[in-house]
Amino acid sequence: ATYDVRCSPVTVEGQGGALLCFEDISAREQAEQIRRDFVANVSHELKTPLTAVLGFIETIRGPAKDDAEARDRFLEIMSREAERMNRLVRDLLSLSRVESDERVRPAERVDLVSLVQSAVLTLRPFADENAVEIIVEGDDAPIFAPGDSDQLTQVFTNLIENGVKYGASGKTVRIEISASEREMAFRGPGIRIDVVDQGEGIDPVHIPRLTERFYRVDGHRSREMGGTGLGLAIVKHIINRHRGRFRIESIPGKGSRFSVMLPVR
Ligand code: ADP
Repeated sequence: ATYDVRCSPVTVEGQGGALLCFEDISAREQAEQIRRDFVANVSHELKTPLTAVLGFIETIRGPAKDDAEARDRFLEIMSREAERMNRLVRDLLSLSRVESDERVRPAERVDLVSLVQSAVLTLRPFADENAVEIIVEGDDAPIFAPGDSDQLTQVFTNLIENGVKYGASGKTVRIEISASEREMAFRGPGIRIDVVDQGEGIDPVHIPRLTERFYRVDGHRSREMGGTGLGLAIVKHIINRHRGRFRIESIPGKGSRFSVMLPVR
């Protein structure tokens, strides 16, 4: 623990003395450290693509001025790097919006079955590109829960997208939806949605940290797939706001299961 010590002179019954105040500031220090790390991470994540873009601008203006083919290639890379910055800023904005909403109870009544189905529809082309099949199990009957539909869409989009990104080509991402009158997690009616992939899986040592901002098992792989390292942090905040539960299970070499449990009332 870290203590902040303050000393003030006191007089007791004519005798001079000192009063020492110890305050445990470990939690405050820790919060401050997390904030510093976050700022350092954001700066680093933005600086890398920005440096690349600036470098290529110089090359296009100078050595590659008369080389149309090289110019096109560099413009292509610059556009990819700019897209990366764009995704990062988009995710940072989502994260900050979700954090500031966290105390406000979501008020819409959302049909989670059709919400998941629309997320799947949006991601089908991306899955096709990666030769991954998305399967939704369970019937089409609506299951309503109080929620914020944009945010819940983001939860399932992020999870399914990860399943495709870190899944294996030729394999599936399965979505299992089930309603229960007594969901263990909140001793009341709930809905549980699992996103299950058949990818490489995750070593158990990483699992508790996956929802930290910018935590990645393999940074290179994540960036290559267009990841920002913020997806699961956003998911966790949204589920917290919905008073739900989030669980990650994985068997290395076999695949992973991401479970979202939401109260229905
Ligand atoms: P990213 O943008 O890097 O995908 P996320 O916050 O969505 O960030 O995920 C954090 C990390 O968790 C990823 O970098 C990856 O290492 C790991 N991860 C997430 N989903 C899966 C999955 N389905 N299979 C294996 N690893 C995963």
